[in-house]
Amino acid sequence: MSAATPVTAIRASAYTVPTDAPEADGTYSWDSTTLVLVEADGGGTTGLGWTYAPAAAAALVEGLLAPAVRDIDVLDVPAAAAAMARAVRNPGRTGLGSYAVSAVDCALWDLKARLLEVPLHKLLGAVRDTVAVYGSGGFTTYTEDQLRDQLQGWAREQRIPRVKIKIGQDGGTNVPRDLERIRQARAAVGPGTELFVDANGGYTAKQAVRVMRDAAEERISWFEEPVSSDDLAGLRAVRAAVDADVAAGEYGTGLPYFQRMCSADAVDCLQADVSRCGGISEWLRIAALAAAHGLEVSGHCAPHLSAAVAAATPNFRHLEWFHDHVRIEDLFFDGTLDPGGGCVRPSDAPGNGLAFRAADAEPYRIR
Ligand SMILES: [Mg+2]
Repeated sequence: MSAATPVTAIRASAYTVPTDAPEADGTYSWDSTTLVLVEADGGGTTGLGWTYAPAAAAALVEGLLAPAVRDIDVLDVPAAAAAMARAVRNPGRTGLGSYAVSAVDCALWDLKARLLEVPLHKLLGAVRDTVAVYGSGGFTTYTEDQLRDQLQGWAREQRIPRVKIKIGQDGGTNVPRDLERIRQARAAVGPGTELFVDANGGYTAKQAVRVMRDAAEERISWFEEPVSSDDLAGLRAVRAAVDADVAAGEYGTGLPYFQRMCSADAVDCLQADVSRCGGISEWLRIAALAAAHGLEVSGHCAPHLSAAVAAATPNFRHLEWFHDHVRIEDLFFDGTLDPGGGCVRPSDAPGNGLAFRAADAEPYRIR
């Protein structure tokens, strides 16, 4: 195909930002987060995309993906997506390869919208003006005071009517503290806020069911990864036994992963991460797949990369307003969104409406 307006360059950089406190969930702990930024040039403008991944993703972008998409027409994002899928065949389309593809795909959609001078959610075709969000953090490393302050910041100050905490501490070996923290969380937000929990795969199936039974008074409505998201039979068993909606899918890369999860009846709501799953191009196909199984989609993390496509997804439920990523995106970009009242309104500026503040990011740059 001839390109009237070719992609002229793809640039990748990486930034590691320390957390504001030690953080852990049921199966992992961390003290920093790395953002891999992709800038896509064409037609005299630049599109922005990113993923949260090791800096090795930036090497994949520049070494494999940039040559694959260069000279493709900026308007033909599906052609670029197909070229990237071919380029990562041998190193692997799933896993980190998909994270790299996602960052470039999102940058190319943003570039196209900026070139056409339309908001990204309008380019994709919006079905709603605002996108529901939920406050997400509540790390197992927090003290009771830290947990209460964070949850009340969302529920009271920002009036976000749904919040999520991490449970499954130390691989599910400290259930008494999990139950105590669930009680603390309910007490902090009061009866009118939806309370979600995420075990990050820390429990066994029967253990997860017992935790929900013992926490019944706290009326948990969302139980994320009660068991490993690879244990589809376990997810299905928990789903059948608890009142809360069971959710998983945040590690999914590529359409077949989501097809297996949906066809196993493993979840009540499918999670997808636009910065991992293959970008906006693949997200749209995953959302259609979920719809065919009667499921809604919830957006995992990277909130400002997700808002536009969330607004354009008919069967969308809510977007994870994740503490670490909100903090980094507010630090690195002008034009970030206000979750006050429990939803965000995608920008009316061209593209995703964000401007990268390179000087503010520079102290964190590692590549
Ligand atoms: Mg999760």
